This record gives sequence, structure tokens and C-alpha cells, in this order.
Amino acid sequence: MKDAFPSVCGSARLRRAIADDIESGTFAHAYLFEGPKGSGKAAFALAVAAALACEKKTDPLLPLPCGQCGPCKRILASLCPDVQTIGPDEGKATIGVDRIRRLKESLVLTPGELDFKCYIIRDADRMTPQAQNSLLKMLEEPPGSRTVYLLLAKNAQKLLPTVRSRAPVLRLSPPTRRELAAYLKDTLPFSGVEADFAAAASGGNLALAEAIYLKKAEAQAPLADRALVTETAELFGRDCSKGEFLLFFNRFPQKKEELLALLMLIYRAMRDIIAAKRTERFEPDFFLTSGEASACASRISVKGAAALSVLLTDTAAELEKNAPPKTLLPAFALRAYHARGGIRP
Ligand SMILES: [Zn+2]
Repeated sequence: MKDAFPSVCGSARLRRAIADDIESGTFAHAYLFEGPKGSGKAAFALAVAAALACEKKTDPLLPLPCGQCGPCKRILASLCPDVQTIGPDEGKATIGVDRIRRLKESLVLTPGELDFKCYIIRDADRMTPQAQNSLLKMLEEPPGSRTVYLLLAKNAQKLLPTVRSRAPVLRLSPPTRRELAAYLKDTLPFSGVEADFAAAASGGNLALAEAIYLKKAEAQAPLADRALVTETAELFGRDCSKGEFLLFFNRFPQKKEELLALLMLIYRAMRDIIAAKRTERFEPDFFLTSGEASACASRISVKGAAALSVLLTDTAAELEKNAPPKTLLPAFALRAYHARGGIRP
């Protein structure tokens, strides 16, 4: 059996299913790839376009896509004019109907290099309802049309049911740590960072794992956040004055999205701590090793970690409802401080 999408990390079953559809000629003309940020949707979509165009598609000895023929190379390097990626315009939160209309206008042009055209729509769940309705008309084209649409979305439920019914939803599963580490080792040059560390520290986010592994600047802030989470977990179990405790939270970000991401990281650390309390053998989610989680867990009681978990999800929910971080954060710190009686073992 041909190797299916070796350049894509994780989602093995999905990769196989799509390769089967392409090989048997049953590939539909529209799909919706759903997956969290960093799950590799964009890279997967390009690889699918390459597989459709690959000149060595039927060679049983080569993977699909082969990655070596002309169309594969041009598409994977985003150089093929017949494969276009669109998303929200610079500085805009949504994809408006104008953007989809522009796409529609380009439909009349025949493909230049390939025998089909492929449109990849990033953040498709950020299309306005009007934009979706405009796209719908394009998706309803008669079968046999030489245009393929690949919609990428974090949450398919945000799209109109009519759009979802035209484009089967395919869910990308986040890669496991092991898959991520193997992928980093196989596809990237060694940069001095251990692949296992980058995979674990990324929390399953492919783009972040690559950034950490390649020591890119964008990895610095997430790594600093991880360090802050570990310090927070230590603070919860440490004997300190109320002033010192409350002051610590001045280091937390004041922007909603950043604070939300940090609280969720602490929540994942708390879940590891609870798991470490219950069993020695578990797969940590936040901590790099179960030993690291156990060390932290020795200073916090199960009851305390559970109370903090509730506090974290409550605070995150308030943030989602647009409560200002400026007032929410001190309240969180105070409640966490008062829960300390139950926190220590
Ligand atoms: Zn090829």
C-alpha cells in the first residue's frame, strides 16, 4: 500500500481515507477540514492538492503525493497559480462577501498549469453568512467541474448547515507526542533541541512544536508561559504571605486571549497533578514527564487541585463573557489564596 501523506503529522486514518478517495477517483469536489489551531490543516490541504495533481499518483513505489514531480514541488512550495489560498483580508476579523465574489470572478479563468483549480479557504468559519451563501452557489456547481474547494476551520459548527452539507467535514486529530517527535526528527534538521522536548512543550500544536524545535523567535513567549505555569503551580503549594501571593499575579497578561490561554495551561497542569495523585503511570498533558507532575503534586492536595480547576474554568468562562481581566484577575488571585487551606496536602 502506498504511503499516504508522509509529510503530514498525525491523523493517520484520515490520511489513508483521503488517499483511497484520490486513488479510486471518488474524491469529492469540496471538503471541510476541521481541527484546532496548529493541527496542520493548511499543510494538509496543500498536500491534498499536490496528491490530486501528482504525476506519479499511480506509481506503487512512491508515496502520495510523491513530492518530487513538477506539480508536487510547485504546489507544496505554494508557487502554483492554480492552487490558491485565501483567508480574511489583512486586519479583518471576517471573510466578507466581497472576498468570495473576487474568487468567483477568477473561476472563469481556465487553469494554467494543472487540469483543475483548487481553492483553499483558511478560517472558513470566519466567513460572514453572506459570504457563505455566495460560496454555496459555487459549491453547488454540477459534478465534473474542475474546481476543488478545501475549507479549513477550527469549528465547523460555525458554518451554515447548507455549506456543511456540501462539504463533508473531516476532523484532524491533534498528533500525539510520539507522532510529533517522530515527525520533527524525520522532517527537520536537528537544531540542538530534543524532538521529545519540543513535542511535549508544544502541547500537541504542530506549528509551535516546529518553532520550538527550530528555536524560532515565536517560541519564546509560549515557552515563557509554560515557565509561568510551573511557577504558579509551585506558588499554590508554597508557604507565603498573602501580599506575596497576590503580587505574583501581576505577572499575568492583561489581554483577554493571552490570559485565557494561560489559564487553560494552568488547568491542564492541575489535571496532570490530580492524575499524578491517583496513579503513578499516566500520560501527562502539560508536564514533560509524569515525574515532573508528581513532584509538583506532592505539594498540593487533590482537593486543592480540584478546587483550583473549578476556579480556573469559572474564571475562563467569565473571560469568555468579556469580563475585564483587570478586575477578574485580582478576584481570581484572592479566591485562589483563600482556597489555600484546602490546597496544601
Ligand atoms: Zn508528485
